Amino acid sequence: MSKFDEIENLSEKLNDTCNPEGITRVLEEIFNPINIYIYDNTSETLRDFSKSWISIEEYRHKDKTKSLYKIFEKLKTNTLLAKDEKFYCSLCEGQKLIGMIEFETIPDKDSIEFLKVASYLISLKIQNIILSDRMQRNIDFHDSMKNIAKIIETQYETSYIIPIIGEMIDKFVSEHLIYIFIDNKLVWPNACKDEKIFELLKCLTNKSEYILTPDKKIGLFPLISENKLLGCIVTKSTDNILSEKEINYIEQLTNQAATTINRANVYAEILKHATLDALTGLYNRHQLEERIKQEVSSAKRQNRSLCTIMTDIDYFKNINDTYGHASGDLVLKTISNVIKHQLRDYDIAGRYGGEEFVIILPFTKLNEAQMVASRLLQAVKNTKIDISKVNPDVQEKNINVTISLGISEFNPEDNEKTLLQNADKALYKAKGNGRNRAEIYEKV
Ligand code: GH3
Ligand code: MG
Ligand code: MG
Repeated sequence: MSKFDEIENLSEKLNDTCNPEGITRVLEEIFNPINIYIYDNTSETLRDFSKSWISIEEYRHKDKTKSLYKIFEKLKTNTLLAKDEKFYCSLCEGQKLIGMIEFETIPDKDSIEFLKVASYLISLKIQNIILSDRMQRNIDFHDSMKNIAKIIETQYETSYIIPIIGEMIDKFVSEHLIYIFIDNKLVWPNACKDEKIFELLKCLTNKSEYILTPDKKIGLFPLISENKLLGCIVTKSTDNILSEKEINYIEQLTNQAATTINRANVYAEILKHATLDALTGLYNRHQLEERIKQEVSSAKRQNRSLCTIMTDIDYFKNINDTYGHASGDLVLKTISNVIKHQLRDYDIAGRYGGEEFVIILPFTKLNEAQMVASRLLQAVKNTKIDISKVNPDVQEKNINVTISLGISEFNPEDNEKTLLQNADKALYKAKGNGRNRAEIYEKV
């Protein structure tokens, strides 16, 4: 094979590979075992390229590094070098030395001649792979940032958000352990045994920038939003230092995470003070329980009548399963409106949970409560719900649902809990007796 053909052959083989393993294999076919080392500016180390550029193998603190680095320095003035039964060939980008190939045995004269020409080609291929690796990493990173942004819009529960953030950061700084602290308490993952981290956490304020330990192995990235220190993301490694690129990634992710967590906290606080259920506009469960307490105590004090109705939509799960959750939500809203319209001003209606509602009827005797229940049964049954508004795919335009109801009347020995429990027992009976009906709680 002529020199030209050999180069052509190598070029074709290199073209067919797109990763470090592939390049190593091609070169080993020609030259026997080899190692490729590339100088990494950010960590100022020679890195083993034969594995993967992303999963870094560092030699910085091992004996091998020093001798390798000495050779690397020498290659700045010689393109080829033989040392201790091994042979080294420089890899350059233009005039700049970017790495070297280590040959486990000294190649023959012809191979060395060939290498002088081929090293340019190999070097170019390696640069391409590093570049596309970095680009892919950037693409992945930006996808992740987009994902976090989506979560910001739609999720408000920190218990749901934090593991997602943790896993996202883990993916981009895979060589380091990640911890997330909120209010100085570890929330992700389950354990952190490093006392030093707890000590360092105490130094953080709402004005802090990120902190790196002098050996660059522990990084603290405070979660600050709207001038509040919410917590901290901590990275820790036993071997590798944090590179500038990684610091940059974590800083961006930390900023996003801080906004997300702050929003979730604010929302949780708002919910605590809310009295109405967001979907139906009826009282929420918390407010409902407060109102029952008040009504029970005034019924006791003033010795007046009081009834409670617990109601639940029949076969509601079918609605979700058949027409989708948006249709289910529309049914909930519509039925809530029907209930509201059937009641007197001083009656109290609330959403107790999923598709369960509680109605409190002050100044109401059992027979009157039964009448209210019958009215509700009829009104709900006769309501046509146009689900095509929320789900254009469905064939049926209007659907109907029915409800079941359980009624309990207040007795002097009752409290707010037993009053509700009794209504629930009656509701259970109504379901058992065929649904679309009301039953009264009767003491056994
Ligand atoms: P039953 O007649 O025995 O009451 O049958 P069911 O299917 O109504 O009862 P089940 O308790 O099995 O189903 C209640 C369903 O309500 C399950 C849950 O997914 C759904 N659900 C709860 N909250 C909401 C909500 O806010 N929106 C929607 N669309 N569905 C909800
Ligand atoms: Mg139901
Ligand atoms: Mg139910």
